[in-house]
Amino acid sequence: MKKKVLKFGGTSVGTIERIQHVSNIIKGEVEAGNQIIVVVSAMAGKTNELIKFSQDIDKNFDKRELDVLLSTGEQVTCSLLAGALIGLKIKSKSWLNWQIPILTEGEHSNARIINMNVSKINEYIKEGVAIVPGFQGVSKKGEITTIGRGGSDATAVAIAKLFNADSCEIYTDVDGVFSTDPNKIPVAKKIEKISYDEMLELSSLGAKVMQSSAVQTAMMYDIPLEVKSTFTNRKGTKIFDQQNIDYTKSVTGVAYSKDDAKITLIGVEDKPGVAANIFEPLNKSQINVDMVIQNISSDQKKTDITFTIKRDDLVKTKDILKNNKSIKFREITHNDKVSKISIVGAGMVSTPGVTYKMFRGLADEKINILAISTSEIKLSVIINEENTLKAVKKLHTIFELD
Ligand code: ADP
Ligand code: ASP
Ligand code: MG
Repeated sequence: MKKKVLKFGGTSVGTIERIQHVSNIIKGEVEAGNQIIVVVSAMAGKTNELIKFSQDIDKNFDKRELDVLLSTGEQVTCSLLAGALIGLKIKSKSWLNWQIPILTEGEHSNARIINMNVSKINEYIKEGVAIVPGFQGVSKKGEITTIGRGGSDATAVAIAKLFNADSCEIYTDVDGVFSTDPNKIPVAKKIEKISYDEMLELSSLGAKVMQSSAVQTAMMYDIPLEVKSTFTNRKGTKIFDQQNIDYTKSVTGVAYSKDDAKITLIGVEDKPGVAANIFEPLNKSQINVDMVIQNISSDQKKTDITFTIKRDDLVKTKDILKNNKSIKFREITHNDKVSKISIVGAGMVSTPGVTYKMFRGLADEKINILAISTSEIKLSVIINEENTLKAVKKLHTIFELD
């Protein structure tokens, strides 16, 4: 007998037929003698639809009320799935975030799970299947909170840890983690095993198959994860501690995202303290600067500084720069039609020439690189958005991932 956490994403519970299909998967697990806690997402598209409703009421819809609204998506699937299991004569019960409770801290729409009352559910799973809503919790003050898009993955990992589960299985609409998004690049290959570090980089850089904060928690507490398909019986991807993986390739995967924007300050004074002056107020306002490039401009004592930030922070960033008297520049420009393309691989550490190969590949496709950043196991570039898939395809091919 094993204690298992099974998480089903939005597409997996996207229709009534699919919920019935999921209930049969769970039935199989129960018949195999396992104790089961299920975490569900809202039906595919539901969360987006609710966000749109709120925006139609007010572009600055109240944050507390938004969390109350969004948490209902998962409430629906919890109940439907428990009902489907009961229909199959499997004892089952759903809980809402406050009934458990799932305790969170932090602000609305971006809270973190910090604890959960495990006793009731631990008792219940000895005889029935517990169904728990992903993506949400309740604050110490009793307010309903959500934990960020894709957050049901984080709920599943938190439950696996708090309940000391034997396994945490993430059921989704693809067969596992691939070398790049298989829905966009069909030659992508499924990865059998991947380290936490690589998965964390891939997730943070745009591979939405796993939410990055879920991977971070799994890594911190060494909780092995398995990502697999709800719709096929193929073996999925195991995510675990890196030491057990043998690296034959320098690059494991290619990720991309369209979340960034680039800002250039033209004609900035070229003297000590100028960069500090620019980035200090941004830091104070919790704006994360990712890549920075400084070049000498034609006018001698002046320079240009280019940097990237999250696209959502663009307006706020420009306001801060324009309104701060100690920051002097001739002109400010921005480009939000950019994408970030990244190659990730623990094997990069021991393979020389990866950087050159990436730049050569992009040059051969006549793709201009607008900014670059590197770390031990990843290399990211900013390019014009229109070249995104061309770049991903090229890198996928030259790093022998096709
Ligand atoms: P769920 O609703 O099950 O949480 P998501 O939509 O959040 O599923 O994540 C699964 C999707 O992630 C896939 O349908 C796929 O398009 C996308 N994806 C992006 N990058 C990758 C990758 N490297 N491997 C697998 N899927 C990926
Ligand atoms: N329903 C939430 C979302 O769409 C959480 C999740 O699916 O993981 O972001
Ligand atoms: Mg997801």
